[in-house]
Amino acid sequence: MTAQPPAQPTAGSANTAAPVPTLEMVIGGEHVPAADGRVFDVVSPVNGAVIARVPRGGAEDVDRAVVAAQRAFDGEWHSWSQTRRGQTLARFAGLIRDHLEELAATESRNMGKPISSARWEIGAVASVMEYYAGAANKLMGETIPVSKPGFDFTLREPIGVVGLIVPWNFPLMLASWKMGPALAAGNTAILKPASYTPLTAIRVAELALEAGFPPGVLNVVTGPGATAGAAIAAHPGIGKVAFTGETATGQEIMRAAAGNIKKVSLELGGKSPNVVFADADIERFAAESPYSVFDNCGQDCCARSRIIVERSVHDKVVELFATATLKVKVGDPADPATEVGTMVSFRQRETVLDYVRIGCEEGAHIVVGGGIPTEPALAQGAYIQPTVLDRVTSRMRIAQEEVFGPVVVVIPFDTEEEAVRLANDTPYGLSGSIWTRDIAKAIRTAKGIQSGVISVNCNSSVHAEAPFGGYKMSGMGRENSMHAFESYTQVKNVYVDLS
Ligand code: NAD
Repeated sequence: MTAQPPAQPTAGSANTAAPVPTLEMVIGGEHVPAADGRVFDVVSPVNGAVIARVPRGGAEDVDRAVVAAQRAFDGEWHSWSQTRRGQTLARFAGLIRDHLEELAATESRNMGKPISSARWEIGAVASVMEYYAGAANKLMGETIPVSKPGFDFTLREPIGVVGLIVPWNFPLMLASWKMGPALAAGNTAILKPASYTPLTAIRVAELALEAGFPPGVLNVVTGPGATAGAAIAAHPGIGKVAFTGETATGQEIMRAAAGNIKKVSLELGGKSPNVVFADADIERFAAESPYSVFDNCGQDCCARSRIIVERSVHDKVVELFATATLKVKVGDPADPATEVGTMVSFRQRETVLDYVRIGCEEGAHIVVGGGIPTEPALAQGAYIQPTVLDRVTSRMRIAQEEVFGPVVVVIPFDTEEEAVRLANDTPYGLSGSIWTRDIAKAIRTAKGIQSGVISVNCNSSVHAEAPFGGYKMSGMGRENSMHAFESYTQVKNVYVDLS
């Protein structure tokens, strides 16, 4: 039997004397506290209020979740047809849509993202589930003509128990990129949300039970990365770990996963280029591209945080981009007109302000922003000004390291070859954009840039149907699309001797 869900925090309660709810993890279909009973506070960056308390899970809780997930994998779930898995995912998607407002309000208040963005993201979560609902019964093996007199075929089988570790910037959306293919392929999962943003993960685990997934198919363990996350990465009962987060954490996870040769997929950091050629529609670039780096307050692995611009249009691009930046509406995440809310935490804001200071010490020039908004209405939250830094060279730290905040640097180039060389001049290779009216130049440049995702004359190329992931130190493996689906399976070859 599944327990009743504990009360969820509701929008606005931080401003009242409403009691702070204590939530529980979902393991084996039950709501449970941490084995040692410890909890941690979840704080809204909008006003610093504690909005919930959540179990501080650790290794013992991960052990419990692995037992529950393995039991589910060996039980009823194992006998479900692929079609039934797809139908249940479709119901899950429907329930997510039914609860869109509730989930979006929670995500917005927990993370500080504008409510309009949070609504879009929860809709995207449902779309990802719908994609994998449709894909579930399209997973097929092959028949292979071998040279011996026999019949050879392959089966695509689930891995077993998989661990899904996600960051705080797009909490539920990045979880959905893992949950969708993992469950559609027949695995059972343990989801560990980031400690800043655990609320929607707990809620969707409840919705998964309501949709009809057997208990233990989707478990949520909350807790610190260093304990709960590390226990997932190292656990011998987990066959795959799928991780999104910082590159350094990804390296630790890879090392921990070596113990049982876990399959690993990693979506890591980025320092993506926005390459602007002189023949581009500069006005359109300047009007649209601020959102490619300031959206989600710059806390986006795909943020186009380096404008690499042809020198002949440098001044015009900087002027138009700066003008557009000043129009970006920073404000209360609950206001539907807000375009940029708060950072996830006051600590993260300090890190970003430090980077601006380092950039200035290195010789960068602040064109706009660079500090904390002065409006009294924004004094309580972790707000920061969208910032444009010019006179940057590629070797500066501000041009090399992921800031993970609303800061963009401008670097000029003279030739197409130099543009590609600069675009590739970081350890990362996740995303990027190219702006030009010359299609041949666009394709040459797209082929030259070492990154997993590139868009031409727009800000994004992320779609549920298309592969997403990094080159170089931005990661390994792909999310979304059938590429991700296959990564949650293993191939078995069967040969039948017919002689
Ligand atoms: P993070 O690496 O600090 O944490 C991510 C998750 O890993 C959290 O759940 C955390 O608790 C857990 N974790 C931390 N240490 C761990 C350990 N030793 N073992 C196992 N788990 C551990 O990252 P973050 O600060 O939450 O997120 C920001 C980072 O995520 C940025 O670098 C950003 O570029 C990256 N990111 C990448 C993508 C992508 O798809 N490539 C998408 C979003 C974010």
